[in-house]
Amino acid sequence: MKPSIYGLTQTELTDWLVNQGEKKFRATQIWDWLYQKRVLNFSEMKNLSKSLLEKLEENFILNPLKEIVVQESADGTVKYLFELEDKHMIETVLMRQKYGLSVCVTTQIGCNIGCSFCASGLLKKQRNLTAGEIVAQIMQVQHYFDERNEGERVSHIVVMGIGEPFDNYHNVMSFLTIMNDSKGLNIGARHMTVSTSGLVPKIKQFAKEPMQVNLAISLHAPNNDVRTKMMVINKAYPLERLMDAVDFYLAETNRRITFEYIMLSGVNDLPEHAEQLAELLKNKKKLSYVNLIPYNSVSEHDTYQRSTKKDIIAFYEILKKNGINAVMRQEFGTDIDAACGQLRSKQMKNKTKKAI
Ligand code: SAH
Ligand code: SF4
Repeated sequence: MKPSIYGLTQTELTDWLVNQGEKKFRATQIWDWLYQKRVLNFSEMKNLSKSLLEKLEENFILNPLKEIVVQESADGTVKYLFELEDKHMIETVLMRQKYGLSVCVTTQIGCNIGCSFCASGLLKKQRNLTAGEIVAQIMQVQHYFDERNEGERVSHIVVMGIGEPFDNYHNVMSFLTIMNDSKGLNIGARHMTVSTSGLVPKIKQFAKEPMQVNLAISLHAPNNDVRTKMMVINKAYPLERLMDAVDFYLAETNRRITFEYIMLSGVNDLPEHAEQLAELLKNKKKLSYVNLIPYNSVSEHDTYQRSTKKDIIAFYEILKKNGINAVMRQEFGTDIDAACGQLRSKQMKNKTKKAI
């Protein structure tokens, strides 16, 4: 399988070209075609020599994704189902936010972390996505808007689709580097967020990265008992170690961290849980906020139910009273949340059948 050229950083492309006996500036030209003019085929790269075009065609493909279904909902959310070259399917979601167009990308086929509330975890990891396959998700969405000619640009990225990004660290970092490059789409590091279930060594590694990408931690519980029931990863990296890594990250970066917290009725939404959470976060009030997320039910796991609005508000009030920054994702957002982070492959596959 030939790799996608989208997976190469500018430096990597330059090195490859030099190895091929080509001039360095060809990399700038190729990137211009890929990310500014955003062509769909190598043959459209008009200022390259025929021999270079042949070399490109021989060694790379441009777009590794085949669009299978595009669903646009009333609130402007667009879900894309793509087929990869090895026939695996992945989903990408575009969300219209007040501040711009935000895309949620998938990083793995399946996920090995296996959280008990997550639809993505139902499928064991089949493989990591390549950097090119992750970049291509953004490019496909951008091409979709380019075709409309309204000048809309993808401005934000959330790495919250299927998969654990820190279990595919290298490719995710290449992806972020390519997106952040000023000669590429030039998406500001602060406009990109990576969400992790809490792989401690990788959080520490991420803290040392020069790029100022935001970090979100899927916390979901205020104590080890509850967290281990929801997320087996908590056995390997219990809260003490996770919070240590968070403190390290905060000390290194001085950047605000987001804690995601899915509200599950009777499981993690009691007043005592809110008190425990406030205690857990008390030394990072200034540099953190909690995102209270309504649970999207996963039919395969009927053990969980979403918390009532009343319980969510009560939980929120306790956090506030303790000086913890918190936001409640609005009800209207559930559609969108269902799309991002909890992509429903089966549902999409059924829709595909109908569409075909
Ligand atoms: N693996 C990473 C990133 C992908 S999951 C992580 O776990 O952080 C992105 C977010 O969607 C996580 O916060 C995850 O906990 C959340 N999520 C998973 N299943 C969900 C569900 N059923 N309802 C609401 N959010 C869910
Ligand atoms: Fe994997 Fe994240 Fe889902 Fe857990 S919540 S199973 S880490 S995708």
